[in-house]
Amino acid sequence: MSRRQDFARSLADLDLRRKMAVSMAQALGHRAARVAETPEWEALRDAAQAIRAYGLTHLDEMLAQFRHQLEARGARVHWAADAEAANRLILDVLRARGVTRFVKGKSMATEETRLNEALIAAGLDPVETDLGEYLVQLCGDRPAHPTAPAVHLSRQDCGRLICQHLGAPYTDDPTTLSLMVREDLRSEFLRSPAGITGANFAVAETGTVVIVDNEGNQGLVSALPDLHIALVGIDKLIPRLQDLGPLLRLLARNATGQTLTCYTTLISGPRQAEDADGPRELHVILLDNGRRAMLADPTARQAMTCIRCGVCCNICPIYSKVGGHPYGFTYPGAVGSIWAAFLSADPGAEELAHICSLCGACSEVCPVRNELSHTLAAMRRRRHRPWAERLGMGALAAVLARPSLYRLGTRLLRWAHPFRRLGAAVPPIRGWTLGRELPHPPSRSFQESHRRWGGHRRE
Ligand code: SF4
Repeated sequence: MSRRQDFARSLADLDLRRKMAVSMAQALGHRAARVAETPEWEALRDAAQAIRAYGLTHLDEMLAQFRHQLEARGARVHWAADAEAANRLILDVLRARGVTRFVKGKSMATEETRLNEALIAAGLDPVETDLGEYLVQLCGDRPAHPTAPAVHLSRQDCGRLICQHLGAPYTDDPTTLSLMVREDLRSEFLRSPAGITGANFAVAETGTVVIVDNEGNQGLVSALPDLHIALVGIDKLIPRLQDLGPLLRLLARNATGQTLTCYTTLISGPRQAEDADGPRELHVILLDNGRRAMLADPTARQAMTCIRCGVCCNICPIYSKVGGHPYGFTYPGAVGSIWAAFLSADPGAEELAHICSLCGACSEVCPVRNELSHTLAAMRRRRHRPWAERLGMGALAAVLARPSLYRLGTRLLRWAHPFRRLGAAVPPIRGWTLGRELPHPPSRSFQESHRRWGGHRRE
């Protein structure tokens, strides 16, 4: 099924649209409340933008510092050029220690590399421990949102999935369901020899992997097992520990409407002699997988500053109707459409730049002031466009630049409106008119009304 058909199918799914409408309205409402009570909001955004922009020009320096600090405390730091290399590295480390079943924290980087599929194909058994990812794993599905993987599921869907999996009588009470899952996962945490996580940030100054979560599972995944592996995109680097302040405040407020995420775990090495707990072995894998190519692209590099809060999805008029699955890529929405062009193995991923309505709502809410719609518009301009589109846009530009032609055009449109259904049969127009009704033109144009009221024509 083509991507276009995937979008059309999701758009026609009224149940999905209802669930998305409720979830997105809730998420935006909670965010708005936090923004309203934070007078320094714009100053926080300025600070975050500056911190992340620094990373665009000092990446190699920060990577070297991060690696040096972590290795000085006994961690192993690896480099993965692509998804396959990252998965192979993780598989080798797990196999060398005889690990078969192990726990995982929520990680979009491992979704990007399709780690679970690679490990399952090699006979291993990953157990997702974030509640949303646990549900997505039960469905055999992929996350639908960067911070809310199961956003497309209703409470009743969750009840059915969990009760069926645990062989329990049906309930959709959220507290009962989360306690059932907690009970199920507790034994997994206690017996797992290894834990795999991603990272929200990686601090160069101190060599610290930073992970945030609301369920406490990331702390258990990274501290209880003897082996911890963290897969970290190189875009996650930030220069100093103090930079975490504005970034964590913005991340929680935008992503979930909280003042701060419940748990923030900072890992700067494996267990030291004086530590009471922590993994005996820590491997950090730094993942490129197209990020350097994006950094080298003057049009798209700003998108590297994304902190994955997901609010650009929540506010997007496209995403909020269809959810994340039709995008066919780990990161959906406007920012995902940019990332896909560099990170996705799918040659058709560049098409995603054409899905955006260019309304600019995402740029207004982005905590790091990413100009996503401008980037997408620039990416569209440099793509090869079909002859019909070039011809149509050239004709439109010629008409708009000449007032007399424009006036003639509006009169012709009024005259031609009754025949609009014939136009809808012409291939380049047909796609556009499938979901839209051409409005009836007014009997008199604005300029004609203006002149009637005594105004003057401006040429
Ligand atoms: S582009 Fe901005 S709004 Fe979108 S996920 Fe990234 S940080 Fe959040």
